[in-house]
Amino acid sequence: MALYLKLSPPPLLSTSNPCLSPSKIPLFHPFGKTQSRKDRQVVQSSKFTSFLDLEPKSKPEPLDFDIPWFEPADRPRFDVIVIGAGPAGLRLAEQVSGHGIKVCCLDPSPLSMWPNNYGVWVDEFESLGLEDCLDKTWPMTCVYISDQKTKYLGRAYGRVGRKELKLKLLSECAGNGVKFHMAKAWKIEHEEFESSVSCDDGTELKANLIVDASGFASSFTEYDKPRNHGYQIAHGILAKVDSHPFDLDKMVLMDWRDSHLGNEPYLRATNSKLPTFLYVMPFDSNLIFLEETSLVSRPVLSYMEVKRRMVARLRHLGIRVREVIEDEKCLIPMGGPLPRIPQNVLAIGGNSGIVHPATGYTVAQTMTVAPILAEAIAECLGSTRMIRGTQLYYRAWNGLWPVEKRCVREYYNFGMETLLKLDLNGTRRFFDAFFDLNPHYWEGFLSSRLSLGELVKLGLSLFLHASNHSKFDMVTKCPVPLVKMMGNVALEAI
Ligand SMILES: Cc1cc2nc3c(=O)[nH]c(=O)nc-3n(C[C@H](O)[C@H](O)[C@H](O)COP(=O)(O)OP(=O)(O)OC[C@H]3O[C@@H](n4cnc5c(N)ncnc54)[C@H](O)[C@@H]3O)c2cc1C
Repeated sequence: MALYLKLSPPPLLSTSNPCLSPSKIPLFHPFGKTQSRKDRQVVQSSKFTSFLDLEPKSKPEPLDFDIPWFEPADRPRFDVIVIGAGPAGLRLAEQVSGHGIKVCCLDPSPLSMWPNNYGVWVDEFESLGLEDCLDKTWPMTCVYISDQKTKYLGRAYGRVGRKELKLKLLSECAGNGVKFHMAKAWKIEHEEFESSVSCDDGTELKANLIVDASGFASSFTEYDKPRNHGYQIAHGILAKVDSHPFDLDKMVLMDWRDSHLGNEPYLRATNSKLPTFLYVMPFDSNLIFLEETSLVSRPVLSYMEVKRRMVARLRHLGIRVREVIEDEKCLIPMGGPLPRIPQNVLAIGGNSGIVHPATGYTVAQTMTVAPILAEAIAECLGSTRMIRGTQLYYRAWNGLWPVEKRCVREYYNFGMETLLKLDLNGTRRFFDAFFDLNPHYWEGFLSSRLSLGELVKLGLSLFLHASNHSKFDMVTKCPVPLVKMMGNVALEAI
């Protein structure tokens, strides 16, 4: 049944409270403190408690698992050093070591639980043999285009079992002889065939290849073009609630409804220009993951604004939060140029350009790309060949970003630039047409698995499916990004 039939009445109280008039809404840096004391007072004085006042009570425990540690007496010389034990670093360490290559993985806390709540399409993990690492799946997904229109998608969605996936990768790594060192990489230096990593505990490790998997904030990966990112910003909570109106067999990929902003003139106006949607994973009738998300913005939308919209939305949906079990502050840089190719340090994960420029999805793509990259590394450093230095960097980077894939990424960048130009109504029209496409196209687009030719067909098909209004949007807003994309594709192909 469509969700809008189940909604509870509009909120009794809103942020139209004069305390929160637009002129008094402070501007926040997205990385800044999430809620000032003044804000808390405002929330309290307005006679309701929002979930923003609730802090998660417990922190996740580190994993209880035996991994082979690097000992000071060990020889500090490896074939490959991977910096970072996030999903990208561990997956690459697992894959490279599977080729018999000596790997060391560095992280300040290799056994900590990953902090983010990851969602993937079930078919993506099935095709990688990782379906046992999904701790919850939904047979269908849905997209609320507006209060009047809902789309049901017959594609199953899953939440990654962070513990299961991390344990699986750690145990493969351990079985393949990967050594772990609990430290932060500080500095990298290169010689002709060898590089060294200095760590914050004073250790110096050496290897033929250093892989930077330290995430978005990395300072080891270099760019030679201005980084013109878009940003996805979101606030998410895993919460115990009294009740919620969502069907338990459907994951809500995007809820673009804005009826909750009926009494919020300021939020309504900003949402019309820079829209946010709700992403929902309902686990049971009292446990739910909710995330208010700005798909992409540049400059980045204020984090406080995202949270205020979420407060208004949950109140309108009649969702009363009893307990926040986990919260997450999400800021994902998207799109922009690729790192300089090649360079002496190889990158994988959040800092390598793998992040889908139009959606922010990264995990499934990282899991897919790591074996390909490991193959390219093994061709150089495996037992039969000894290709090192410039040749190694060149081959590894081209394994990660062959020319065809660089061209395809330009297309996804074009998708991001188009989304950046759309307001709420334009965004709704866009997704209305997008999810009407043949599933081969929309599924392939979201999972980064279409060829350039297929992407061109998708573009044409999208145009044909679009309403006249949406066609007008495309014709008026897309030419500049389109010309840029064509220029960049031509440059890559030369
Ligand atoms: C809140 C949030 C939610 C997300 N949700 C999704 C999602 O649902 N689906 C999806 O596909 N993608 C999602 N993403 C995007 C992306 O998948 C994640 O950011 C993912 O964690 C990236 O993995 P990574 O291994 O590259 O980096 P990270 O997970 O950031 O791991 C980096 C690791 O490197 C370590 N490190 C950092 N600096 C150093 C150093 N100097 N020396 C040694 N170690 C270091 C860190 O301790 C960390 O363990 C999300 C991102 C965020 C921020």
